[in-house]
Amino acid sequence: MSIYLDSNATTQVAKECVQALLECMEDFGNPSSTHLFGQAAKKRLMDARAQVAALLSASPQELVFTSSGTEGNHMAIRGACAMHPEKRHVVTSRVEHPSTLSLVAHLEAQGYRVTLLDVDENGNLDLDAFENSINDETAIASLMWANNETGVIFPIMDAAKIAKSKGCLFHTDAVQAAGKMEIDLSSVPADFLSFSGHKMHAPKGMGALFVRKGIKLPPLFFGHQERGRRGGTENLPGIAALAAACRLAMEADAGRITALRNKLEEGVVARIDIARINGVGADRVGNTSNVSFGNIESEAILTDLDREGICASSGAACTAGGSEPSHVLRAMGAQAGSAIRFSLSRYTQDEDIEKLLGILPGLVEKRRMQ
Ligand code: PLP
Repeated sequence: MSIYLDSNATTQVAKECVQALLECMEDFGNPSSTHLFGQAAKKRLMDARAQVAALLSASPQELVFTSSGTEGNHMAIRGACAMHPEKRHVVTSRVEHPSTLSLVAHLEAQGYRVTLLDVDENGNLDLDAFENSINDETAIASLMWANNETGVIFPIMDAAKIAKSKGCLFHTDAVQAAGKMEIDLSSVPADFLSFSGHKMHAPKGMGALFVRKGIKLPPLFFGHQERGRRGGTENLPGIAALAAACRLAMEADAGRITALRNKLEEGVVARIDIARINGVGADRVGNTSNVSFGNIESEAILTDLDREGICASSGAACTAGGSEPSHVLRAMGAQAGSAIRFSLSRYTQDEDIEKLLGILPGLVEKRRMQ
């Protein structure tokens, strides 16, 4: 039996999500149609929107369904720039997901000034530096809520307050936070928040963007759907599955997953003297552990683990195939070349961690001897 410890790349699809998806395959109406089929679909869409909004303590009208976290990030950042064409500056951090970093690189090539904020050795952000980076020219500040590689949590409540006090739009990429920790948009004054279904047990190709009431965000795709904010017939099966995932997340036992992650880390540190937990001194989401193993190459350990049926990763899934060491770990000054990310989910069992702890020390020792 394989053990899957790569849930920050994507998660096992929950049977509850499959069920919700299948119901919308049979009940196939277009929510924009006025006949019976359309009305049934519209009702499903409304119910799903209310369920997703409940996870974030947002109002249903504040949600725009998207195809992905990437689309949400782009819609917020590009939209904010389009709202304020006279402002030619964007603030973000050096450790964001490539979907944000590649977009701001593109903006830079178009003449925008981009501030990439540094992090310290634990992956923490300096809020004073964040505050000082925002000025009258800043179209938007965008910070991830939880880091996909290390799990480190940025102080989004404080950052959002700072951005608002300086009259700047604020977006947070909550792809790795949603469903793993409490998100209450009635008290966090973010203007935009994006997240993605496939990181929380829904299928791939489904996400949502929160747009705070009153903000007129220009669409990426024009059309009447989503109140003119995102054209294209709604992916109702995906939306229903996302709503089911949000319902599951609200019932989730984050404490159990955190306890398993802590057991993994305590076991690894006790058994492998060269192991270093990256971001251990920071506040982190409970499912993620990023560990460096001295001079041993990540790919060697991953190959050995894979042979034993254990799936983990050396960082972000989209860069894991490449040979570039993680930009996140380099920004923290950590041993990027030997890092392994273990990311757990509601389906991770105690036996999975036991098996990992039984196998990993021997694999590392063997590689050390080579
Ligand atoms: N932001 C973060 C922090 C992520 O981890 C990911 C995916 O790994 C994304 C954005 C992109 O989400 P999606 O895969 O839905 O495009």
